[in-house]
Amino acid sequence: MSIGIRGNFVVGYDGAEHRMIRDGVVVVEGKRIKHVGKSYDDHVDRWIDAAGCLVTPGLINTHLHAATAPVDKSFLEDIGVRPLYGSNLGENLDALGDSITAADMEVYARYSLAECLKSGNTTVFELGMIPAIGEEKTLRVIGDSGIRACEGHVFGDGAFERVDKYDFKTRWLGEEVGAERLGNAVAFAEKYRGALGGRLITALSPSSILSSSIPLQRKIKAEADRLDVPVSIHAGEWVLEFQNMLRMYGKTPIGVLAESGLLSPRLTIGHCWAVSGHPLLAYPSTGAGDLGLIAAAGATVSHDPVVFAKRGNRMHSHSAYLKAGVNVSIGTDTAPQDILNEMRIASYVSKLADWDYASGTSREIFDSVTLRGARALGRKDLGRLAPGALADITVIDMTTLNTVPCRDPIRNLVNSAQRGDVKYVMVDGEMLVEEGRLVKVDERKLAEEVQRVTEAVWRKIPEHHPTKKTADEVSPPSIRGWGP
Ligand SMILES: [Zn+2]
Repeated sequence: MSIGIRGNFVVGYDGAEHRMIRDGVVVVEGKRIKHVGKSYDDHVDRWIDAAGCLVTPGLINTHLHAATAPVDKSFLEDIGVRPLYGSNLGENLDALGDSITAADMEVYARYSLAECLKSGNTTVFELGMIPAIGEEKTLRVIGDSGIRACEGHVFGDGAFERVDKYDFKTRWLGEEVGAERLGNAVAFAEKYRGALGGRLITALSPSSILSSSIPLQRKIKAEADRLDVPVSIHAGEWVLEFQNMLRMYGKTPIGVLAESGLLSPRLTIGHCWAVSGHPLLAYPSTGAGDLGLIAAAGATVSHDPVVFAKRGNRMHSHSAYLKAGVNVSIGTDTAPQDILNEMRIASYVSKLADWDYASGTSREIFDSVTLRGARALGRKDLGRLAPGALADITVIDMTTLNTVPCRDPIRNLVNSAQRGDVKYVMVDGEMLVEEGRLVKVDERKLAEEVQRVTEAVWRKIPEHHPTKKTADEVSPPSIRGWGP
C-alpha cells in the first residue's frame, strides 16, 4: 500500500539538516518513506490532501511514565513538600503510586499512549510499564496503540528509603539481587528485540542513579554494548538525590555516571536539571562541569520541563546545554502526555532561565523532538522525512484559529499549535490519527474509564500517605465547597 501526502509545508531532510519544502509531497510505501520532494508523478494508492498543513517527522518523546502518570493530574499541581525542596517524590507521589492497582495502570498506559499520539508523538521512550503490568500486557498495550515504543525493565540494586522524618538513604540490596534483575532486563531485551513488527525497541532502564550501584552501572553498560540497545536512567532529578550522591561518593550524579562509564552515547538521562552550576544547588562547576562530562561522553539529556515548571524550577537551560555540546531531547514525563505543550514550555523556560529571547528557539526545540530524539535511540531512520526512513509522520493543520496567521510553521508549531490541530499521525505507514480522531481508540469510553479508576485511587490515599492524610488534605481543592 502506498500513501502520498500533499502539504503546504513539508519538512524534508537533506542528509544534514531539516529543510522546508513549500507545497511538497511525501510518499510512503509500506513502512518506509519512498519519496520527499516538490512533486511525485507515479501512481499512489491513496492521496491525502493536507492543504494548509505542516507535514513533519513524527515527534519523539524520550522520557515518560505511561502507566502511572495520569494520576498526577488534578492532584499534584500547586503542591509539593517543602523539606524535600518542593518535590513530591518520596511522599505525595508515593501515596498516589501505592494507591493504584495493576488494572488501573493498564487503563492509564492505554490513556497515556493515546494522549501521546493525539499530540503528534509517534515514538516514546517509556519507563515503568513492565513493573506495573508485566511484559505481556505491556506488549499488548503498545501493540494495540500502534505507537513506536522503546521499552525495558526498570530496575536497580538499591531502594532509596525514608530512614527518619526527611532523611532518606539508599539501602543496597546486594550483588545477587542486582544480577537477577539485570538478567531479567537483558532477557526481555533479547527476547523482544524487533517485536511488534519492529515497533518495539528494547532498552535497559535502570530506574535511578540513587538505586543503581556503580558496579551494577558497569554491568549495565557492558550488556547494553553487547545487545546494542539504548539505556535510560533518572539522574539530576531532585535536590535530595544530588546531595545524597555527594554524601555517598563525593561526586555529582553526573560525576558518578562518568565514573561508572554508563555515561555514553547509549544513555538518555531523565531530567538532568540538577547539575553543577545550577542556581538552586549552590554547587559551582569546576572546569567544563557536569555539562562538559555529558557532552564529552556523547550522552543525551531528556529535558522534561513541565513537571519541574510546576514546582517552580527549571533546567538552566535547553540552549545552554546545546551550546555545551549536549544532545538535548524532550520528554513529557507525567501527565499531560502532550509533546506540543512540553515543547512550548521547554522553549519558554529556556528563555526565562537565560533572561534571553534568543534562548530555546523554535528551531532548537523542533530538532530536539526529531533528530536529537532519534540520536538518543541510536536511530538514523527516525526523526526525519527522507527516502528509506521509517514512515512516522505527523500532519498539523496551520489553518485553524490557533495556528493562523502562518508564515513560519515551525514557530507556530512550538508557540501556538494545540493537540486539536494535529490532523494525521502515521507510524510505520499505518494511520493512527485521522482528521484529528484516534483510529483505534474509543476516546469517550477511555476518558470515562480513566475518571472512574482515578476516583477510586483518590479514596485510597489515606491508606498509603505517611501521615494518613486524605486526598483533600494533601491537595486541597482550588475552590472551597459551597455552604458552611
Ligand atoms: Zn521520570
